[in-house]
Amino acid sequence: MAAATRTCESPDCVQPAKLQCPTCIKLGIQGSFFCAQDCFKQNWNEHKKVHKTAKAAAKIEDIKSMNYNPWPGYKFTGALKPWPQSSRREVPDHIQKPDYAETGVPLSEIKSKQSMQIKVLNEEEIEKMRVACRLAREVMDTAARNVKVGITTDELDRIVHEACLERNCYPSPLNYHGFPKSCCTSVNEVICHGIPDTRPLEDGDLLNIDITIYYNGFHGDLNETYFVGEVDEESKQLVKVTYECINQAIASVKPGVKYREIGNIIQKHAQAHGFAVVKSYCGHGIHELFHTAPSVPHYSKNKAVGVMKKGHTFTIEPMISQGTWRDEIWPDNWTAVTQDGKRSAQFEQTLLVTETGCDILTLRPDENGRAHFLSQM
Ligand SMILES: [Zn+2]
Ligand SMILES: [Zn+2]
Repeated sequence: MAAATRTCESPDCVQPAKLQCPTCIKLGIQGSFFCAQDCFKQNWNEHKKVHKTAKAAAKIEDIKSMNYNPWPGYKFTGALKPWPQSSRREVPDHIQKPDYAETGVPLSEIKSKQSMQIKVLNEEEIEKMRVACRLAREVMDTAARNVKVGITTDELDRIVHEACLERNCYPSPLNYHGFPKSCCTSVNEVICHGIPDTRPLEDGDLLNIDITIYYNGFHGDLNETYFVGEVDEESKQLVKVTYECINQAIASVKPGVKYREIGNIIQKHAQAHGFAVVKSYCGHGIHELFHTAPSVPHYSKNKAVGVMKKGHTFTIEPMISQGTWRDEIWPDNWTAVTQDGKRSAQFEQTLLVTETGCDILTLRPDENGRAHFLSQM
């Protein structure tokens, strides 16, 4: 009999074990034998951790065995599938909210679409943009510190949400056109607008986190791609080239440059490395409105309207893919994936056009502004 030959699990006890933990029996955990009630009680605080780990693992197995698939008729382009989402997170009343926070409809943005005018910000507005963008960067770096194998994108969303509230910021994506979460998390073949869910990140995943916050009437917007655990060389190369693309584009920004030039610079560099530029999503003007004029395509020979002027604030956010530039959208109407299931990477910064060039308002304040992934190259 196995039970008779065992010794007690307590670290210092050598008594024969006769008693099995009832919770372990219920959870199907093998082992967990103790000599007597006393030893069991003394070890309870340490031992109960075993239950917690087993419960978490069982939950993941449950979801896997259920083969969770909300859209049985849909043919996924790659290996990534949606996982269940947590319920909606709340924002307390004292935090200033954009006009869509309750209704999901960004009325002021829709109204502004009638004029394609690019707003020139005054000094006071520029200062507010600087603050919003600095806060967005703080939230991003808080999320970045938590990226690791096994954490779910939902947990990262909770961290982002709480980091926003701590800074009296509203997480701009929340309920924007009905988006259900506080940031976008885009894994592997997801190009952008991935919805945080309960899938644990796996070793080798590429993860993009896109953060926008709203503070004192202004939005700050940035995104970064991270390596989860050990990533393959091709993925590293994709992320590196994408980062070079955005930096080359930013270096060209100054008064008098046409917005349509940005795409020529990005596509030239991406193509030289055998990568493709996604066309369906563009950089955008940003200030009191989340997305507004100008539209900033990342592909060459585009027909974007407008010339950069001192006081403009906008984003550059190239999405670069290993295979096709073509995208499609999951039936959740948000998640944009590559049509061939190959990986895509992205970086985004919010910029202010200055007299002689631009300020990167969302620049990382430490490590000379370098992106996090560079320390893992
Ligand atoms: Zn953006
Ligand atoms: Zn963004």
